[in-house]
Amino acid sequence: MQTIAERLNSARKGIDQAANSAHRPPNSVKLLAVSKTKPVSDIIEAYEAGQRMFGENYVQEGVEKVQELSNLDNIEWHMIGPIQSNKTKVVAEHFDWVQSVDREKIARRLNEQRPESLPPLNVCIQVNVDDEDSKSGVSLSELASLVEFVSSQERLCLRGLMAIPKANPDDEQQRQTLSKLKELFDHYHTSLSNFDTLSVGMSSDMVEAIHHGSTMVRVGTAIFGKRDYPNR
Ligand SMILES: *Cc1c(COP(=O)(O)O)cnc(C)c1O
Repeated sequence: MQTIAERLNSARKGIDQAANSAHRPPNSVKLLAVSKTKPVSDIIEAYEAGQRMFGENYVQEGVEKVQELSNLDNIEWHMIGPIQSNKTKVVAEHFDWVQSVDREKIARRLNEQRPESLPPLNVCIQVNVDDEDSKSGVSLSELASLVEFVSSQERLCLRGLMAIPKANPDDEQQRQTLSKLKELFDHYHTSLSNFDTLSVGMSSDMVEAIHHGSTMVRVGTAIFGKRDYPNR
């Protein structure tokens, strides 16, 4: 059995190799460690191995972990799961980033509820790039107006796009999806000042995502091992 530190190391090496073979600088891709369903002891192990960015999917579980680990300096928490509007307040109060903003109502509430004592909340807009019924995310046709809305919110800092491409695509479909995301990202990256994040790629597709310009991969299984509840 490999330790979390060893698996983190392999993930970092995999990222560097992929960036290198895509002729991109070694520090151009960030690693978000997705710790959903895993105990805080695992997060501490990863933290001690140098990891600082962690992603959580479920509001209550995430908030509990943020509170429990509030003594860890420079730890950065990303909400990456769907958010119901009655949960926006605790999210705005506890997280540094929300990557799963997919409608105006959620953005408006996060903006209103972000405490004055904290810096603006970093936000990525989640795009339903493959137009799947089962997935959250704004449709491509509504993306432009949501970008405009989020950009206008003073307590939000629009950082980029997040997507979860279709599972098990064929090569051609995967290329098309990732190219489309890169094209959308480039469009806004050139026109908006803080728009520097394309969050795409997980344990199984991070190499391809890095070849298509991902700036942040979200990796759970490859670092923390299989989840006991794979569908959660
Ligand atoms: C669970 C999850 C991940 C991590 O997936 P792995 O396959 O375990 O690497 C990444 N992004 C989101 C949005 C997730 O829900």
